[in-house]
Amino acid sequence: MNPLKKITIVGGGTAGWIAAAVLCNQFSAEELSVELVESADIGTIGVGESTIPPFLELLHSLNIDEKDFIEKTQASFKLGIQFSDWKQLNETYFHPFGSISANMDEYVFYQNWLKSCAEGDDFALQDFSACSVMAKHKKFFLPQSASKTPVSEASYALHLDAGLAARYLRDYAEQRGVKRTEGKIVDVVQTDNGDIRSVRLQSGEEIAGDFFIDCSGFRGLLIEQTLKAGYEDWSHYLPCDRAVVVQTENTAPPPPYTRATAQAAGWSWKIPLQHRTGNGYVYASQYCSDEEATQTLLQQLEGNPITEPRIIPFQTGMRKEIWKNNCLSLGLASGFIEPLESTAIHLIARGMVHFMRHFPEKDCQPALSREFNRRMATDYREIRDFIVLHYCLTEREDTPFWRWCKTMQWPESLQYTLDYFKTQGGLPEEIDRLFAPVSWRSVCEGMGLRPGSYSPLINSFNYATTRSHLTNYRQALEDFIRQLPDHEVFIEKHCRAQKPIAA
Ligand SMILES: Cc1cc2nc3c(=O)[nH]c(=O)nc-3n(C[C@H](O)[C@H](O)[C@H](O)COP(=O)(O)OP(=O)(O)OC[C@H]3O[C@@H](n4cnc5c(N)ncnc54)[C@H](O)[C@@H]3O)c2cc1C
Repeated sequence: MNPLKKITIVGGGTAGWIAAAVLCNQFSAEELSVELVESADIGTIGVGESTIPPFLELLHSLNIDEKDFIEKTQASFKLGIQFSDWKQLNETYFHPFGSISANMDEYVFYQNWLKSCAEGDDFALQDFSACSVMAKHKKFFLPQSASKTPVSEASYALHLDAGLAARYLRDYAEQRGVKRTEGKIVDVVQTDNGDIRSVRLQSGEEIAGDFFIDCSGFRGLLIEQTLKAGYEDWSHYLPCDRAVVVQTENTAPPPPYTRATAQAAGWSWKIPLQHRTGNGYVYASQYCSDEEATQTLLQQLEGNPITEPRIIPFQTGMRKEIWKNNCLSLGLASGFIEPLESTAIHLIARGMVHFMRHFPEKDCQPALSREFNRRMATDYREIRDFIVLHYCLTEREDTPFWRWCKTMQWPESLQYTLDYFKTQGGLPEEIDRLFAPVSWRSVCEGMGLRPGSYSPLINSFNYATTRSHLTNYRQALEDFIRQLPDHEVFIEKHCRAQKPIAA
């Protein structure tokens, strides 16, 4: 055995500090020394503020107290995403977390629900989702505290302040022995076989490592600029390539969901935190100038801006090799898919989970990185297809951007999934999928794609009994949720953050 003795992390954004936190939680400082280099001159991107439920698993795996984290990052709860104007203008649908089962097996429920549609009954799919109904009434309750109630089927994530979250993880890692070095890297030194030996700072200091984690953001300082891993470009499926972002004051209590509203050449988000709201417009520069995008965003703000609008260019895709030689890339350095389903922070955590499963020795056995790269590419492609799904089923024809989306070429893997889904509502079963069938069903239904038929096996159930069960369950869910606390009241009672200190 020739174990790694030192890992150097390049970058102190969300990716860098998640990597540091995971490593110092796994290894003592004697077993593995971890050093993180970041540059205040370059700064972080600071906009990843909407998460999905696995983010809480990351916090729990680090033994981080959820309430403490919420209070220190001004977080609010998220039950899903409200999509407006995607299928048609003035139409809204909700993509909830959690499951939708009405006390049945989830697949059997969905098949029964399809039959109810065929029978002409008017049960809306989301009337059976605890998260959707809570979101509709702006209610919140912890599902784990509501076992044996319909709300136990719910799940949740957080909206968080990206700067405060990175700070929280930094404190966590530094307290556990991670060394932080401030400085700008100006050179990368390689060994004869192309591995990275060290990074050189502007000050002249050289920082070595047995292994490097590149969290340097879009620039990919090690993985691309040095190791030339290559990039798989997906802009032919997802043409948005810029975002303009601005923060505003809150004008109302934060709703327990992210809002994603389709715009003329992309979509805009509103992410409500306890102390402010994050806003952004993701757009395709082929169809919209920076000035137009900024104007659109500013006109639609609900509160006074507290930051200047900032433009962020990006290229959708992923590194051909996310792990190459003795360098793993994480976060924006490894790739980027627009934040429509808030998956980037998840991919960072996921990257670390896979990395720990394939943890190398000093010679970085290539079989480990090959399998890691295959696994990460599967995750990236799954997310890409799911994001394309939000665009390609549109019925909008009111702008050149939406006309393009309506007639776009779909990835083959997505075509396969939807052909199968359209037949009887089935979805391909894969191990370890991020987006469960409930997500596909919700977005397809929201975008107007309902399977043409249901499984014939469902006909062996007595439909009158099913109808009565669905009617009663829907009413019970609605009644139960109406008496839950408002989201704002729940926060006030359990996890109110301190007032932010004025800058
Ligand atoms: C418009 C937009 C919206 C997003 N919204 C979401 C969302 O809602 N949910 C979500 O999960 N994700 C979202 N993301 C993604 C999320 O912001 C990132 O995944 C996350 O912030 C991680 O960024 P990072 O740490 O990889 O890079 P960065 O934050 O860019 O950090 C890079 C680090 O590298 C350091 N660095 C770079 N070069 C050098 C050098 N030469 N020397 C020393 N240090 C250097 C910098 O100082 C910095 O510390 C969004 C991204 C964008 C672009």
